Amino acid sequence: MRPSTASQERVFVLIGARPHTDWLPAEIARDGRGFLLTGEEVPDGYDWPLERGRFSHETSMPGVLAAGDVRHASVKRSASAVGEGSIAIQLVQSLFAYERLHPGRPTAAAAPAGSASEARTLAPSVAMPPP
Ligand SMILES: Cc1cc2nc3c(=O)[nH]c(=O)nc-3n(C[C@H](O)[C@H](O)[C@H](O)COP(=O)(O)OP(=O)(O)OC[C@H]3O[C@@H](n4cnc5c(N)ncnc54)[C@H](O)[C@@H]3O)c2cc1C
Repeated sequence: MRPSTASQERVFVLIGARPHTDWLPAEIARDGRGFLLTGEEVPDGYDWPLERGRFSHETSMPGVLAAGDVRHASVKRSASAVGEGSIAIQLVQSLFAYERLHPGRPTAAAAPAGSASEARTLAPSVAMPPP
């Protein structure tokens, strides 16, 4: 973008909206600015080893959810972030419930041992069917 000059009476500066997602493993899909892609936003080409589909707030890594401002295409408002957080918690509870009903069923990709994303086994929801 080329710099330009414009006369304005007031200016609203929005700061602090940069996602800090560099620490996440490369397997987690982001958009060009670092926001996390979830659900159907995840492009083809990211390996999805599970039989079930990806949940709405689930990233390209099975069992890793994103909610709030860090999620690509979220509304970027406080009330929305709170709502997305409650959805994510509901999903986690549903995933655990399914896991209890289907013990031993391979349902998650293995993350690198010791990584920040070292993952538990997660599975589809019984209360909220996968897309
Ligand atoms: C200048 C400004 C003005 C705004 N005004 C309004 C408004 O008037 N009304 C409105 O509804 N919304 C407003 N918003 C948007 C609102 O603040 C956000 O939508 C909301 O805070 C998002 O909540 P969140 O929990 O998703 O993310 P955040 O509130 O950003 O919380 C993320 C937290 O994670 C922490 N964190 C980051 N990386 C790590 C890490 N690696 N480990 C541990 N913690 C980490 C951060 O320090 C932060 O505390 C404004 C935002 C800005 C920047």
